[in-house]
Amino acid sequence: MSNISGASSGSSSTWRGRVVGVPTVCWCGAQIVGKISKSDPNPYRRYFRCAYAVSNKLMDDNHVFKWVDEALLNEVERLSSEAKTLEQMVKENEIVFDGVEYEKMVFDKGLMKVEKEVFEKVECVFREAKTNMKKMMILVIIGCMIIVGFVKLI
Ligand SMILES: [Zn+2]
Repeated sequence: MSNISGASSGSSSTWRGRVVGVPTVCWCGAQIVGKISKSDPNPYRRYFRCAYAVSNKLMDDNHVFKWVDEALLNEVERLSSEAKTLEQMVKENEIVFDGVEYEKMVFDKGLMKVEKEVFEKVECVFREAKTNMKKMMILVIIGCMIIVGFVKLI
């Protein structure tokens, strides 16, 4: 039996009708199946049911049973509360980053970036200059040696 994670398998006696949202797996490990009620008080009403309980035609057990409309209502409520939390977080962040502090931070960051770029460019120029200087020095030394050699020959 494949277990879908997310559903806690504890508190077996409180399962029936108390699952929040859409149930994915029963506490017994069985999958949840969608069924349509044929009972008189709830004709054609869809519900979620433990597959094990369905195949064994169990009645008044504590395996998962949940009306689909109630489950979906739970999901909608859960999602709307999540959306509210996100909205709240966004608002809090707006307060933190609002106004002068935020602008100063951006300005500082921009300044740091410019400084870094300038520094890198200067360093690059220096490095080039150094290698050029070395080349020049070598050429000068070779030139000197040649001159000295010629002088000695003469
Ligand atoms: Zn079950």
